[in-house]
Amino acid sequence: MRNLGLGSWPARRAAISPDRVALIFGDRSTTYATLHDRVSRLAGRLLAAGIGAGDRVAYLGPNHPAFVETMFATYVVGGIFVPLNFRLTAPEVDYQLGDSGARALVYGPECAATVSASERVSFLDLVVPLAAFEKMISDGEPAAPDVPVTLDQPACILYTSGTTGRPKGAVLTHGNVVWNTYNVLVCVDVTGDTVTLTSAPLFHVAALNQCLLPTFLKGACSVLMPAWDVDACFDLIERHRVTWMFGVTTMFAGLAQSPRFRDADLSSVRNMMVGGSAVPSALIRSYQDRGLTFCQGYGMTETAPGATFLEAPESSAHVGSAGVPVMFTDVRCVRPDLTGTAVGEPGEVQVRGPNVSPGYWRDPRATAQAFTEDGWLRTGDIAVVDEAGHYRIVDRLKDMFVSGGENVYPAEVEAAIFEHPAVLEAAVVGVPDEKWGEVGRAFVVLAPSASLSLAELSDFLGTRLARYKIPKYLDVVESLPRTGSNKVRKAPLREMPLPRVVP
Ligand code: ATP
Ligand code: MG
Repeated sequence: MRNLGLGSWPARRAAISPDRVALIFGDRSTTYATLHDRVSRLAGRLLAAGIGAGDRVAYLGPNHPAFVETMFATYVVGGIFVPLNFRLTAPEVDYQLGDSGARALVYGPECAATVSASERVSFLDLVVPLAAFEKMISDGEPAAPDVPVTLDQPACILYTSGTTGRPKGAVLTHGNVVWNTYNVLVCVDVTGDTVTLTSAPLFHVAALNQCLLPTFLKGACSVLMPAWDVDACFDLIERHRVTWMFGVTTMFAGLAQSPRFRDADLSSVRNMMVGGSAVPSALIRSYQDRGLTFCQGYGMTETAPGATFLEAPESSAHVGSAGVPVMFTDVRCVRPDLTGTAVGEPGEVQVRGPNVSPGYWRDPRATAQAFTEDGWLRTGDIAVVDEAGHYRIVDRLKDMFVSGGENVYPAEVEAAIFEHPAVLEAAVVGVPDEKWGEVGRAFVVLAPSASLSLAELSDFLGTRLARYKIPKYLDVVESLPRTGSNKVRKAPLREMPLPRVVP
């Protein structure tokens, strides 16, 4: 077998555990043997259509077995997989198809309207709606093509979430993804009988590389959830006796607020993994009070994604910590002059290691800006490190603002607001202020029929935060603007005109 990359996994896994179930989607189960057969046929069809080494193959659609099959088939032929966020508009999809130079696209029925509105799709060499996917597979030859692939070859282009600007195409090599998988397997007890709930969208690095691939490598089972829904999540956990799931803060907040949180049968769940954005400690405690193990990880698309991780045995003693650097990756916290910070001093997190992307797709300028001269990735995130070497992610450098000469980290303010019982979601941004330079403006989503005034919020925060951190504006809103991976996009909030009367 000359393919040492991710494309060799279905064949290798099928040889070891052909009859174990790899994927569950609705009522459909796919074993490793079947998956290998389908991936081989699909890879043959890609080659027959002239799609091979280095060609970019995009997938647009919610979680579905076809996502996994398209990805592995692309890897088998030495191509580069480009999963796209299915919530993007046609012009946004066009940008990513054009930027990646995709030659092929597989898309789900949910995205048919986006595809018909796209200007670029008609220029692709191969466009496969899911309705034609089964025929493509059944027409394929069952023999897996033997294409040489090495670990330093690009495997995928993953677009960042677009939380701070236009999504950037991070290149991950086969080696980056393989090393990330090893890092995960060191941190989490994934075994052959693990049942992973893939509840986050697979186009996001965490669902794909942090959940699905480690589960696959161990020959365990991934339950694919096509769309996030609190009740469906409880149903799937109970029905399939899920042992492990990853989610972002909003998902876990949604589960915790559900009336089913108390009584659902969660006895199969060995651990829940959270990451992707700041995690209020109050939320973690609500899970721990329910007897659940809650592990926090920190990372980003560019690091494939794991950088630090809080392992299960440490999770109750270090609530709020994002853990320590993962096994095979170096992480440091530095001042602007790149000297190391002291214990408790905020600094930028930088990452170096075999899971770190070589850079952004065809963007040497952005790549050069992202790395220090000696090859550390500048994450743009601020953390403090305690005596035990635990990282606490404070916020993004770009979100920090300065009020009366003091640095304010919105994530800390949001976590304090989140403790108010009326508040379901909170986001804080810095806005210009004549007296203080900048002050905080809070946007909150309230529980049904709850109310909250600025005076009440200020009173509540008065015992929790220093005065300069307490927002001077409060907007009660229906919802917050979010990215496809459910992160709050702060730019639109910063641009909202301020109320004319200063409260
Ligand atoms: P873009 O780079 O396009 O602005 P993004 O940074 O949100 O979007 P991702 O790569 O999905 O795109 O997210 C990585 C970022 O998520 C990290 O840089 C960090 O800011 C945030 N993050 C991840 N895990 C945590 C965590 N445990 N606590 C706080 N923030 C986190
Ligand atoms: Mg980023």
